Amino acid sequence: MTLARLFFFIGAMGFAAATHAQLAASARLPRSFPTSAGRAVFVDFQTADYAITFDGDTKSAQVTATIRFVASEAGLPVFDVVEGPTEVSLDGLAVESLEVKTPGNETTVRVARRDVLPGAHTLVVRVPLKNLVEFRDGGVRSAFWTSDLEDRRFLERYLPANLEFDQVKMTFQVTFKGLAPGQKVYTNGKTQARRLGTSELVRITYPEYFTSSSIFFHTVPEGVTEDLRFVLKSVDGRDVPVTLYLNKSILGGSLDQLRRLTTEVFHELEGDYGAWPHASIVVYNAGSGGMEYCGATITSVSALGHELFHSYFARGVMPANGNAGWVDEALASWRDEGYPSSSSMSGTSRMSSRPTYTRSTDTAAYSFGQRFVSYLDGKVKDKGGLKPFLRQLVETRKFSPLLIEEYISLMSTFYGVPLEGDFRKFTFGGPGASSVKSTKESVHRKLSQAELQALL
Ligand SMILES: [Zn+2]
Repeated sequence: MTLARLFFFIGAMGFAAATHAQLAASARLPRSFPTSAGRAVFVDFQTADYAITFDGDTKSAQVTATIRFVASEAGLPVFDVVEGPTEVSLDGLAVESLEVKTPGNETTVRVARRDVLPGAHTLVVRVPLKNLVEFRDGGVRSAFWTSDLEDRRFLERYLPANLEFDQVKMTFQVTFKGLAPGQKVYTNGKTQARRLGTSELVRITYPEYFTSSSIFFHTVPEGVTEDLRFVLKSVDGRDVPVTLYLNKSILGGSLDQLRRLTTEVFHELEGDYGAWPHASIVVYNAGSGGMEYCGATITSVSALGHELFHSYFARGVMPANGNAGWVDEALASWRDEGYPSSSSMSGTSRMSSRPTYTRSTDTAAYSFGQRFVSYLDGKVKDKGGLKPFLRQLVETRKFSPLLIEEYISLMSTFYGVPLEGDFRKFTFGGPGASSVKSTKESVHRKLSQAELQALL
């Protein structure tokens, strides 16, 4: 379907049409492309079950991923994992996997080297887990931290996964063997722990709306962290369980200040955008390195409000790809600045129109993007500004990854004002458009491997 027709359909169908989500889901599947080994086709993961073993005897970690997917065209199915798999099988037959570049060199993905026909298939991938894993003090430290500022830095950095457009029902079966008892797990899924002989097993179930940028997972030996658990009452009547924690050897101080701030931001956000979108809240106060997950964050105290905002925009209302990723950074920065409104706008950017397969977010989002949001707010000031639209977006479109074209169409429909021209002018700039680098990137400052390792 052409973009113009997609606009027409989305505009005509409006917010509530039931078939809309399905139409958008197929529109979100990235286009297949030719490779030296055959045609690479993006597929729809239905479920991904991960058996993850941390073995203290061999000081190594292993993952076996069983992925059930549906292909809508014939070709080599695309998945991704940065580490090279040791075994891959497709529908029970061993196959090779191959890293391939997308046509414009935007990113690298993997394909299983056997054509599948349209329909349901099973992919099993076995891969060592090497990144951010450290065996010491009789236990293991491991985290699946992500970044949207660099390519291939979501779940694929650790586990076989799909790209961000896809929502997948995921489970972890984590086995800790040959380790001191009492390994702690901080995560944004439902956990069940039990012992089997000398091993500890933790089963984690994540909600169906999760994508490759949703999961927060961090495990440490007992005694490394200090945590504080309490409950916040949501406007919808739920008790939302909160876990705040810090690593005692990295950050001194108490968690009381963090508790006060979390409570304050939670009520502010619920007041503006409605009930907390997720089942719980997990905050790792690491002192630096803010990154958002669904109902979870690794953050400094100063970035906490920004990161919790992302549970509504980024991990509640979700971007379908890198070209939509700037919206939530622009919105979060707009909140950081106290929701300013402006009546003029200059310059341009390519935040919405980078090459097709780009996965990361344009850093112009933080400053230029924030000014553009202030401008949009000014433009609809007489209709109550942007907040009512954002609130409705959370109500009606949370957990349904959106393309930038969908944001534009939904916003134009909501206000009854055509806004496409403004988006085109300021965010779809031509090749000459400069992306203004931000001074505010520090909120999501890229952490080096050594810095990440130190936060384990
Ligand atoms: Zn952010």
